[in-house]
Amino acid sequence: MKNSFYSSQYKPMKDPNCPLCRLVFDNEVKTKIIYKDMIMTITYCETHRDQPLVVLNDHRELPNPIEMNQIRYICEKLFPNKKFRGYMQSIPNHWHDHLI
Ligand SMILES: [Zn+2]
Ligand SMILES: [Zn+2]
Repeated sequence: MKNSFYSSQYKPMKDPNCPLCRLVFDNEVKTKIIYKDMIMTITYCETHRDQPLVVLNDHRELPNPIEMNQIRYICEKLFPNKKFRGYMQSIPNHWHDHLI
């Protein structure tokens, strides 16, 4: 499959000026990492410290359906009582969501 993390040729996009890319690729985290795999990084939001922040490990606006399934699965397991906030405010070009 093209443009998938499961393809060995796929290289994620990275914007050095994007704080979410620095979080994902350089481990620049001011709170703590809750969970990390090939697809996502989950940490606590720096601004909203009580809200887990799930970030796609790629500088893209949207996860593909396979990634989204995995994100939902992991988030429901880790935070069964929380739901996705559902919008991106300050960084609209790198997919992330808050769990509230
Ligand atoms: Zn980014
Ligand atoms: Zn936040």
